[in-house]
Amino acid sequence: MEKELHLINKGLQCPYCHCATELKDSATVYKGRHYGMVRVCPQCGAYVNCYPGTDRATGSVADAELRRLRHSAHLWFDAIWQNKLKRSRYNAYSWLSLRLRLNKDFTHIGMADKELCRRIIDISRRYISTHDPDLYRRLEEKI
Ligand SMILES: [Zn+2]
Repeated sequence: MEKELHLINKGLQCPYCHCATELKDSATVYKGRHYGMVRVCPQCGAYVNCYPGTDRATGSVADAELRRLRHSAHLWFDAIWQNKLKRSRYNAYSWLSLRLRLNKDFTHIGMADKELCRRIIDISRRYISTHDPDLYRRLEEKI
C-alpha cells in the first residue's frame, strides 16, 4: 500500500484505475501543443504535467475536476508568497502544512486530492481576505 502511494504521488500509477501510467508528449492531451511531457493513464485519460524539460511528473495524475481544483489551489496559495504576505515560499509552505496538520513532505498541491485542494483554497482565501483585501478582490475577479 505504501509502495502504491509512492507510485501514485510520482504519477507512475493511476489512483482511479490502479494501472501504470504512460509518458507522452503534451500534444496528446493539449490538442497538439508541444511544451513538454505528461504522464497519462491509458484507461481513464487522467494526466499530470512533468517538470519543464524532464520526464518527472509534478504529482499524481488527475481527472478534470481535480486538475481544476489544483489550478485554483495554486492560484490562491501562490498569491500569498508571491505578494509577500509570507516572508518566503518556504515559510508559506511551513505555515500551510501546520494549518493542514499535514507533514511538510506531503504538503504539495500536485499530490493533493479534491478534499485537500478545497481546504488549501479555503485557508488561503481566508488568509488573503484578512491580510490584503485589495489583493483578494483582484484575485476574485480573475477567477
Ligand atoms: Zn486511470
